[in-house]
Amino acid sequence: MSFKAQYNGTCAAACGHRIHEGDEIEKDDDGQYRHVDCVSEPDPTTLAPKEIVCPDCWLVKPCRCDDD
Ligand SMILES: [Zn+2]
Ligand SMILES: [Zn+2]
Repeated sequence: MSFKAQYNGTCAAACGHRIHEGDEIEKDDDGQYRHVDCVSEPDPTTLAPKEIVCPDCWLVKPCRCDDD
């Protein structure tokens, strides 16, 4: 549930913008505040890198097949 910020602060989504009084914000699972826009549109740079599965041993790379 979103609400208007009462104080200035820092956006937990690290969007590069500060939270200003009156901005629409939301509390995340860690109890930190971030803009509602940042909740619905996560920064692509914060996403986990794609896991690559080795076609030979089916383990997530890097695996032992990369040694040679
Ligand atoms: Zn933000
Ligand atoms: Zn492998």
